[in-house]
Amino acid sequence: MNLQSLIADHFRLTEPERKGLKKLGVETAENLLYHFPSRYGSVAEMRVIANLQKGETATVFGRVSKLKASKAFRTKMTMGTAELADDTGTIKLIWFNQPYLAKMIPEGALVRVEGKTSQKRNATSELYFSNPKIERVEKIPLSAETSLFGTESDAHHLHPVYPETRGVSSNWLFHAIQKILSAVVGGSASGGKSYMLDFIEDPIPSDILKKYSLPSRKTALIWIHAPKKESDARAARKRFSFEEIFLIQLQKQKERVLLKREPSFVIEKTEAQIARFTERFPFPLTRAQQRAIDAIAGDFKKGIPMARLLEGDVGSGKTAVAASTAYSIVTSSPSGQSFGNLQVAYMCPTEILAKQQFENFISFFSHLPVNIGLITSSGCRKFPSKVNTHGATDISRTQLLKWVANGEIPILVGTHSLIQKAVRFKHLAYVIIDEQHRFGVAQRKALVHKEKIMPHLLSMTATPIPRTLALTLYGDLDLTLLDEMPAGRKPIRTKIVLPSERAEVYEHIRKELQNGRQVYVICPRIDEPDPTKALAVQARSAKKEAERLKKEVFPEYEIAVMHSKLKDSEKEEVMECFRDGKINILVSTSVVEVGVNVPNATLIIIEGAERFGLAQLHQLRGRVLRSTHQAHCFVFAESTGTKTVERLKALGQAKNGFELAEYDLAQRGAGQLSGREQWGVSDVAMEALQNLKMVEAARAEAALLIGEDAALGAYPLLSAELSKRTGGTKEIHFE
Ligand code: ADP
Ligand code: MG
Repeated sequence: MNLQSLIADHFRLTEPERKGLKKLGVETAENLLYHFPSRYGSVAEMRVIANLQKGETATVFGRVSKLKASKAFRTKMTMGTAELADDTGTIKLIWFNQPYLAKMIPEGALVRVEGKTSQKRNATSELYFSNPKIERVEKIPLSAETSLFGTESDAHHLHPVYPETRGVSSNWLFHAIQKILSAVVGGSASGGKSYMLDFIEDPIPSDILKKYSLPSRKTALIWIHAPKKESDARAARKRFSFEEIFLIQLQKQKERVLLKREPSFVIEKTEAQIARFTERFPFPLTRAQQRAIDAIAGDFKKGIPMARLLEGDVGSGKTAVAASTAYSIVTSSPSGQSFGNLQVAYMCPTEILAKQQFENFISFFSHLPVNIGLITSSGCRKFPSKVNTHGATDISRTQLLKWVANGEIPILVGTHSLIQKAVRFKHLAYVIIDEQHRFGVAQRKALVHKEKIMPHLLSMTATPIPRTLALTLYGDLDLTLLDEMPAGRKPIRTKIVLPSERAEVYEHIRKELQNGRQVYVICPRIDEPDPTKALAVQARSAKKEAERLKKEVFPEYEIAVMHSKLKDSEKEEVMECFRDGKINILVSTSVVEVGVNVPNATLIIIEGAERFGLAQLHQLRGRVLRSTHQAHCFVFAESTGTKTVERLKALGQAKNGFELAEYDLAQRGAGQLSGREQWGVSDVAMEALQNLKMVEAARAEAALLIGEDAALGAYPLLSAELSKRTGGTKEIHFE
């Protein structure tokens, strides 16, 4: 067996194991070594059944029996039950909605059970484990509680607990990994044994490891899977998070250096010229907007491609920055020419947003002889129309593409449709991407790399993410922050509502509805019950809540539901009706379109608020920030514990979403940051995000190496590691 050996060739796998490993993305021995424990259990935390208290989370070892799947008497909910016995007593195990769990363990097996103990209402009834984790073990370890003389090694033994999936238990992973760690691959010349681990090479230069006191890759692999003490495990995790952040940084810095070598369009517009455009706005620019415009105009003059990220809360006025800088482009001619104009592509994540920004751009540019096009999958439009010079008109796709290709349409707004091969520009000089978190890096590139001369790129986002994450994900971009809201905007009033005040809030809403305003109600779930919380208070679901509001609270108003399982066309229809005022109350999950502008919606209710991150709550309440009317946000929490209330209070105090993102990171940890699935950053790298110093160090070291030589000629292992990673990144698929 070597690092590249297939697991399937060296382990006798059952069908469920085969499927489970595939799901975990584990194919080779090396993959398995990189499947890290999510935490370590220690025998010290092991308990005996007789001493268990209600409501505690505990780990118990014992023999399992009476496994069966059944239906709950009243609720008809499917469940699995069993009984666990150790030397001190027995306790019932119940799995709600997961009857199959009871079938995966044979009757009489020795198991490790970990979970929370519960008790039915009356205190005399028996304790049970509710939805515990269960896995087979070979033997029952001695614990401090069962034996006064627990052996040294048992008491301090840290056993790794691995992320599991159906078919592949933590226990299975543990044994498989131990087998690989100790695999002998033959004798060496000197006669000693040689281990597979000896073939592990470290791509990180040793002076960097030394500088930050990081263990080598081989040592770290041993320490992470078989730590003798906690500090070893910690050092190993630190090493791997550094490794991943460092590799990401190398990749980003490399892209950055290569991009900056390309020539790009030189745009010579003076401040005065741009000011003549912005002076016509119905508002004065904020200082932050002016700074952003100046920074971009500065980049435009350099003749190398700009790559800039504009981060600003919802409502901070990113569109005005986009329009003012687009103005510089479309009023410039291609180099060496005194005629013709450069072009701008503006990409939005949804059709609604594309239409909205098309209209916005028309209002910014209508005094100028500038044609503006709109392309989405459902059709194309052009401004101005030949017949009505103040309005836009539908045109055929063929006609639009022709005018884009010959440069007659200098500004093209659109959805993903913009990336299609058929869309050719004459002189594309500036690409703007709105709500950039919705697009993958690959989509960004697809649009930018369309052209022979590299266009300038502006990515815009309202997603508040912590600084460490921004540095990691957007290491190839320059950052500009719009950290100032336009003056005169009434700050949103946020109130944390106690359950007893619900009726009052509904009365308040009724008044707003009577005044013609509209309301969002955000729920944590769509409809299905939450299997891990069978006995807890169920989080409100959008569907149920909509029914309830219609039946019991606001029968006289139109109420609609919005969630991710609707088809795109259905979503758009609902949003359109809401925008047109045909719907009074929109009950939605958190999918409600980012950036959608419904100025008449002035109220938002968020149910089960503790289930959202603060940054996410902040984004949600941004839905009602568009209006000149006073906006309100009512935050309902299911639990009114002081911790929850403290956390939610930060919503009223933070200056902007980015502050809240930092707060989330500090309080809830990187694993809980919303949107993490789309970043493609591993768990171990996420741990590094709490450590600004480490991220900055990884970035600085990467910049240093790439600065010496972008091809990393002196570091073949690193360069191989990089191509391995980029070769393996997820390819985008176009819709
Ligand atoms: P976002 O940053 O969320 O994309 P928009 O660009 O959509 O924000 O701007 C939100 C609203 O604020 C728009 O109605 C816009 O006209 C207005 N606005 C933008 N800049 C200013 C400003 N400096 N002063 C007043 N209102 C502004
Ligand atoms: Mg916007």
